Amino acid sequence: MPITFKELTHEYNAGTPFAYLALDAIDLSITEGAITAIIGETGSGKSTLVQHLNALLLPTEGSLTVLDRTITATEKPKQLKELRKRVGLVFQFPEYQLFEETIAQDIAFGPKNFGMSEEEALSKAKEMLQVVGLSEDYLERSPFELSGGQKRRVAIAGILAMDPEVLVLDEPAAGLDPQGAKDMMELFVRLNKELHKTILLVTHDMEHVLNYCDHVVVVDNGHIVQTSDKLHFFQDTSLLHKLRINPPAIIRLRDELNQRGFDLPCDILDTEVLAKAIADEVKHHE
Ligand code: ADP
Ligand code: MG
Repeated sequence: MPITFKELTHEYNAGTPFAYLALDAIDLSITEGAITAIIGETGSGKSTLVQHLNALLLPTEGSLTVLDRTITATEKPKQLKELRKRVGLVFQFPEYQLFEETIAQDIAFGPKNFGMSEEEALSKAKEMLQVVGLSEDYLERSPFELSGGQKRRVAIAGILAMDPEVLVLDEPAAGLDPQGAKDMMELFVRLNKELHKTILLVTHDMEHVLNYCDHVVVVDNGHIVQTSDKLHFFQDTSLLHKLRINPPAIIRLRDELNQRGFDLPCDILDTEVLAKAIADEVKHHE
């Protein structure tokens, strides 16, 4: 079952002089089992959108259906706790939410809160630490001794420890060094491919969209202006330019060459294939 938004509106501070319409009657369907990128300029409504998925924010109007539950302004979701276990939401800069004395306790916090025994939760913590690429040696250390990227992994391990079916990540790679960002994205691909988790990812990085995502949702000023699969998304970059978002390097190269007289196909997303197509055209003109 896809995740569906039906004419969902979110107005902050509704009914006050500070009312702000952050999402305006959006219709959206998110494919189950895929990695979907949510992109758009700062302030477009991406974080507002994803916070509806585990009912952290409720719609002002319209509805959202996720994992067989429909959430509306008036229908407080039933079994909210269970929903929050099944839909894991990782905020931007989750590292600021670490607070326990040891990393093990921090990761085990969620599972314990959802009813797991201390022993089970600690064993889960150990397992998840490995999943996010940190060694067991870290378990008894303080989360405050870690680097920013390591802290973020611990925060993500805490969400993964609850074994959510849907994983929602708000700019998970922001501010990480390139290798850290790559490791993080590869972790999400693994969780998707091996554990079949549905992943929604807010990102500004078009290289990440190109390399790791299946679908793209474009948010602009509280509206969904486009939803497409990755291949179609990168065929035409006019929307990206309009939104002042830089396309990935390979797509820019394709467009620059085509503007200078090449006739490269617009469905190439791979460097090797593009290099071959360029070589073929050059040869052809010799
Ligand atoms: P994005 O994640 O795309 O940067 P947000 O969803 O955070 O955008 O914000 C969308 C709009 O809603 C912005 O104009 C922002 O200022 C406004 N907004 C976000 N959170 C609040 C809030 N708690 N109260 C009032 N306005 C908010
Ligand atoms: Mg945001």
